[in-house]
Amino acid sequence: MTDAANKNVDLDEVAKFEALASRWWDKNSEFKPLHEINPLRANYINERASLEGKKVIDIGCGGGILSESLAQFGAQVKGIDMGEAPLEVARLHLKESNLEVDYERITAEQIADRETAQYDVVTCLEMLEHVPDPASVINACMKLVKPGGHVFFSTINRNPKAYLFAIIGAEYILNMLPKGTHDYAKFIQPAELNNYARNAGLEVTHMTGLTYNPLTKIYKLNDKDVSVNYMMHTQRPETE
Ligand code: SAH
Repeated sequence: MTDAANKNVDLDEVAKFEALASRWWDKNSEFKPLHEINPLRANYINERASLEGKKVIDIGCGGGILSESLAQFGAQVKGIDMGEAPLEVARLHLKESNLEVDYERITAEQIADRETAQYDVVTCLEMLEHVPDPASVINACMKLVKPGGHVFFSTINRNPKAYLFAIIGAEYILNMLPKGTHDYAKFIQPAELNNYARNAGLEVTHMTGLTYNPLTKIYKLNDKDVSVNYMMHTQRPETE
């Protein structure tokens, strides 16, 4: 691994996910929130990038919840992550789902050097808030996508409400996530993500919030509320 790529992996962050990996597909485990938001985000991606027959790479794929849904929509999917245990779980789960996804332990920066401009669609969801240098991953996503292709990001906003929902609510009150899953300082404001994307050469096409109502326990996409979780759809221009 090159030094630059190595520096952009926080081993403590990856270790958190290694420790939980065996429960990745348990819908009542720590991964419950990911299972619940998954249909919303997969549909959002499919509506904006029509996945059938597309070549897709899922960056920070973990146990493969999103990767499998993208494959279900008819995409040819590769999933990468730096956690070995999540990848093993992801590979095992394919035997249950009968889907095909090619999983590999490699960083976004490294695969971007190897497979430059090979992908129609790049997805990088709930991962940027776990890396030391999110801009470097965003640049790698830009490098991976073909001209005219789509790149999707999702992360958590940084403001008092996001702190309350994503850390106090999810980790301490509702016990939806293990304590220490998220580090507030690493949350990313939409304007910051916008700048990273623009600096990488991507055009920001759309943004939507993913809201959670703790009373009804229902998640919804809402493009008027990006105050906590949100997704961003960007595109690489056809010509630069
Ligand atoms: N994207 C998946 C999983 C999110 S959990 C989903 O939304 O369903 C975050 C994942 O990012 C974990 O699997 C963790 O191992 C991975 N990760 C953290 N830092 C990484 C890095 N530098 N490179 C690749 N993967 C990383």
